This record gives sequence, C-alpha cells and structure tokens, in this order.
Amino acid sequence: MLEIKSMTIAEITQLMGQWGEPSFRGKQIFQWLHRGVTSFEDMTNLSKPLREKLARECILTIPVVEQKQISREDGTIKYLWRLGDGNCVETVLMRYHHGNTVCISCQVGCRMGCAFCASTIGGKVRDLTPAEMLDQVLFTQIDSGLPISNIVLMGIGEPLDNFDTVLRFLELVNSPDGMNIGMRHISLSTCGLVEGLDRLAEKKLQLTLSVSLHAPDDATRNQIMPVNRSVGVAKLMAACERYFKTTGRRISFEYIMIDGMNDTDEHADKLGDWLEGTGSHVNLIPLNEVAESPFKPSRRVREFQKRLEKRGITATVRRKLGGDIDASCGQLRRKRMEEERT
Ligand code: SAH
Repeated sequence: MLEIKSMTIAEITQLMGQWGEPSFRGKQIFQWLHRGVTSFEDMTNLSKPLREKLARECILTIPVVEQKQISREDGTIKYLWRLGDGNCVETVLMRYHHGNTVCISCQVGCRMGCAFCASTIGGKVRDLTPAEMLDQVLFTQIDSGLPISNIVLMGIGEPLDNFDTVLRFLELVNSPDGMNIGMRHISLSTCGLVEGLDRLAEKKLQLTLSVSLHAPDDATRNQIMPVNRSVGVAKLMAACERYFKTTGRRISFEYIMIDGMNDTDEHADKLGDWLEGTGSHVNLIPLNEVAESPFKPSRRVREFQKRLEKRGITATVRRKLGGDIDASCGQLRRKRMEEERT
C-alpha cells in the first residue's frame, strides 16, 4: 500500500500517468490531502472509480486525538496523537505574538540518550513517515481552528537521525499547493550529528538551525549527552562553522541550565570562548524537571546570561509555556506508556 500523503505532487502526477489518468489529477489529489481529508470518498472532483482505486491502493494516514491538554495560563495546547499502528507522539501548539507555532515530533521515542530528556527513556521505537510529520501540523490546525504559521522540529526524536523523512516533510509543508509554510518560519533543532549537519548545509535551506549544545566541554557534555562521546565539542563546533560558511545562516545554540552540572562561571567562560565574535545566539532553557531524572533547574540563569552578554554574546532565556500541563517533550507519551503497562 502506498502512503500517498508522503508523496510530492510530481510523484502523485507520475502515478496518475501510470494509472492512465490525466496529469492534473496529481495536483488535485495533493491539494485534498493537504487540506486534511479523512476519506478518499471526500475528493469530490475525482471520478468515482478513481476514488475507489485510491482507497484500494493507498493508505490515508489519520491521527486520532488520544489526549488533549489546554494550558489555563497561556493557551498552549498539547496533543497526544494515536498513529495508525497504535504508537503515540506529541505535538505542542504555542501561541506567540508573531503567530501560532507548532512543535512537532519526528520519531516515536529517541535513541540519543540525553540524560535530562523524557523522550529517550524507552529508546527509539521507529521513525515517523513524512505524512505522519505533516499530519501533526495539519490536524493540529484543523482540531484547534488556529492557523499555524510557524513550525519547530523540537518535539520527540532527533531530526538528523531521520534525515530523508525530515527533508521530504519540509518539501511537503513548504509547497504552495499545500500548507505553504515558508522555510524562514521553520526551525530545526538537533543534538549535533556532524554528518547530518554537513548534509543539511548542502541543501542550503532558509530555515533556522538550533544546536542543542548544553555544555561547552567534553567532560561535561559526555556526562549528559552520550552522543558527544564519539564526536566531541571541538568537531561539533567546526561543523557548525562549516554550516554557517555554506549557508550564510547563523546558528542558534540551546543551553539547558542544570543545577551544579553546566551552570558555573567556568562553563559560561568556556561557552564564551567558542562563541565570542561569531554572532551566534544562545538560548538559555530553564530545565523542565523529568520525574525519572535527578537533575534540578539551575538557580544561576541570570548570572550566566549576564556573563555571556558582557562578551557581546546575545543570550536570551526561553519563556516557559504550558507549565501547568505536561508540555515539555516526551512527558505525555511517557505517562501514557506507563498507564498502558499497568
Ligand atoms: N533531538 C533534537 C530535538 C528534540 S529536543 C535536539 O536534541 O535538539 C528539543 C530541545 O528540548 C533540545 O534542546 C533538548 O535538549 C531540550 N530538552 C530535552 N529535555 C529537556 C528538559 N527536561 N528540559 C528542558 N529542555 C529539554
């Protein structure tokens, strides 16, 4: 069975050619899919036999709202979607002044093993498909009734560990015949897979790249991000520099502030050494406490920020949204997994 929502207009058009249909059917079908139809039957400008053939030959992914939490504080909505095979993923809708932003997942679970993160606790179950990534944007917009203008790939999973799918998703969501969300309105966050960074640089996309650095030296980073053990901070920073040279786009560095782990003056100074004069931006993230992890939020966020700013590095502190719901990634899925086990 073909997962037709993962196909581009060109591919659907080619398929219609093989089926002996006129080529304009490709665009018609693509448009229906990207409007979120839940049945081929609803594609009313297609002939009845074609709709029946589509239903026989193709899968139509339709995520089901398994759980929905709405923050009373700021209107943030968190969705737990049930996928076709029974797995669940999370999507968060955040309401900013500059528009509604969805934070989407790219894998069921994650295999990167970061010590502070709830998404990685059960390992990676499987990659999502392009359609399943698109559905999170599409069905969040449909269910909430709120037009979505921005996307961040910061939910469950590591985007560069599902590289081809993520690139295809970007092409789909960017399409003028689909959701038409511009690359400049999309951010991709990675734990820093060097090979993936180099591959992404070659695509020269206009998106914003965020690198989850979280520590400026190997001794610290190895402890909290196992992925660092094979690469090291120096090679990662060199890849970041290559990315900037190739794309002309500055990278934003994410830095979770963890009490007593990565928040000393020495850490700030080492971070400053890497970033001074590069024009990079640092986003300091207050740690969200995860039940399974011993880490506590740092109490030195402002001091750390000021120490960076003294060296001319722009550092902002991420505003916390959805604090009254389980809005940080992986938590809702974890809870549901625990419930289903008992
Ligand atoms: N795998 C990608 C994207 C998903 S995680 C990455 O590593 O960037 C998105 C961001 O949330 C990352 O910066 C990640 O480090 C951060 N994060 C994970 N667990 C967190 C927690 N408990 N508190 C605050 N931020 C967390």
